Amino acid sequence: MSSASPTRPLVPETFSARLVEARMMGPRVRHLAFERADGAPFVFEAGQWVQLIFPLTDDKGRAVRRSYSIASPPLGTPRFELAVTKVDDGPGSSFLHDAPVGLTLDVKGPAGTFTRALETAAPSLFIATGTGVAPFRGMIHDALSKGRTEPLWLLFGVRSPDELLYGDELTALSKANPCFRFEPSLSRPPDGWTGRGGYVQTHVKALWSELTSAHPGAHAYICGVKKMLTASREVLRVELGVDRKQVHLEAYD
Ligand SMILES: Cc1cc2nc3c(=O)[nH]c(=O)nc-3n(C[C@H](O)[C@H](O)[C@H](O)COP(=O)(O)OP(=O)(O)OC[C@H]3O[C@@H](n4cnc5c(N)ncnc54)[C@H](O)[C@@H]3O)c2cc1C
Repeated sequence: MSSASPTRPLVPETFSARLVEARMMGPRVRHLAFERADGAPFVFEAGQWVQLIFPLTDDKGRAVRRSYSIASPPLGTPRFELAVTKVDDGPGSSFLHDAPVGLTLDVKGPAGTFTRALETAAPSLFIATGTGVAPFRGMIHDALSKGRTEPLWLLFGVRSPDELLYGDELTALSKANPCFRFEPSLSRPPDGWTGRGGYVQTHVKALWSELTSAHPGAHAYICGVKKMLTASREVLRVELGVDRKQVHLEAYD
């Protein structure tokens, strides 16, 4: 790293960030772009998360804090992006779905070890449902923009086509980069859908076997809510006997 490169503080810092862009992506997910208010580069590794500190208090009078995976790659700019699912009656996600562009919030981060070191990065199977795709969007853009060519396969489960977050972008990336394979799966497919159907865990065995037949040192990364995480990990660890060092998890609940 050159001496001019920004470095990441060892302890996550707290800073103010301004919401600069927001749009709905499907019925329940809002994409939000923030920038550090001080204009400094936000230094993080693809796949890490930030904690947002809301101007709200819980029933014990403490500030409400929630964590969100960074959905964008590190670009050495003040900007970072999030994808937030609206949880019914959830204070944090409701606040973020109502937040106006221009609002500033306190943010602590980056944090987390759900990352891939690019220099040694193994071929990877990414498994996500819903906004669990966020860290993978960052990792995929990061790897491809740096010219990486190891296979990166994304198995992404949602209910219906309108919930396929970043679907057009991921499809375009897969067409432009032969090493990136995009495998969406719909649990409630519409008539005429010819792609994968059902829960992601039903496809893990076949994809992992195909990937590892050519690349035995592959790693699996799983992100989302615990129910899917547990089911997918069981297939890998129990059914297929994959070493725990090759299976990486990020749980949202
Ligand atoms: C490391 C980490 C990264 C996270 N990254 C993201 C992210 O990128 N995007 C995101 O939307 N959430 C993410 N979350 C979840 C987020 O921190 C909050 O839990 C979520 O926004 C709900 O907060 P709330 O205050 O609205 O609701 P709460 O009242 O706190 O409700 C919690 C309930 O929401 C459910 N829940 C939490 N997250 C989700 C989700 N994504 N989809 C469906 N149900 C959920 C939980 O099962 C739990 O029952 C992450 C959590 C962790 C620990």
